[in-house]
Amino acid sequence: MKNSILILGGTTEARLLATALAKDARFVTSLSLAGRTQTPIEMPVPTRRGGFGGAPGLAGHLADNGIDLLIDATHPYAARISANAAEASRLSGIPLIALRRDGWHQQAGDRWIHVESVEDAVGALGHVPRRVFLALGRQELLPFEGAPHHRYVVRSVDPVEPPLAVPSASYLTARGPFYEADERVLLSQYGIDAIVSKNSGGSASYGKIAAARSLGIEVILIQRPILPDVPSFTSVEAVLSHLDQVFPAARGE
Ligand code: NAP
Repeated sequence: MKNSILILGGTTEARLLATALAKDARFVTSLSLAGRTQTPIEMPVPTRRGGFGGAPGLAGHLADNGIDLLIDATHPYAARISANAAEASRLSGIPLIALRRDGWHQQAGDRWIHVESVEDAVGALGHVPRRVFLALGRQELLPFEGAPHHRYVVRSVDPVEPPLAVPSASYLTARGPFYEADERVLLSQYGIDAIVSKNSGGSASYGKIAAARSLGIEVILIQRPILPDVPSFTSVEAVLSHLDQVFPAARGE
């Protein structure tokens, strides 16, 4: 009998994992997305969208759908769904593993300032007007309305609606991956002197960090949230080899 896997997604790694498991005859795999983006990339397995109604809702979903293994492959800053996954696993007895990419590490030449929250990032920008590149989710932008003296360039997957209530903001819609050379052009073109970013890890959004290093631009990095302590892997390959150990039949059987 096949084993049912539910991946909690929203990341490149979740999509890559789903792509690998879609071809694996041992598993019936499905994916869950928060539903934040208007036009998500097409997924290789059956996909549901939207919240479950907290941990009890997720536990109910796991039981109702005969899920054998839950894989939390959500974004490292999506702390609530990760906490819900841990609690739902406890409530339902259905095992949980996590796929969590490492954060970026500071290198020589990086001008990083570490802050705990978006609100602290606003404070760290200071009182002197600056040109700020915001690489944040739409729902995280509101605190910057409290610092209207800066000029902002905001890049997001979907348009920011309504726009920020500040005198100067430009909006770019784009989906990564973003490469260093292009990011350097973009940051120079707008005369950016500060970037506010999450420490997302991975390569898809690292281009701006590398570009900032080479241009000497300050990067205000929002600290990663604390996530529940569950068996975790940092790459798709590591998850696949774990699955080979737990479900030993040859892949493609
Ligand atoms: P969150 O605060 O952890 O989750 C909020 C609620 O959204 C959860 O309680 C859950 O609702 C629902 N949810 C989240 N992920 C889900 C999934 N995969 N399937 C079904 N429901 C899901 O996460 P967030 O509000 O999406 O984002 C928090 C941070 O993560 C932000 O910094 C954001 O930019 C970043 N991020 C998120 C995603 C993403 O795909 N979610 C992608 C990139 C970056 P219920 O409690 O009702 O189940």
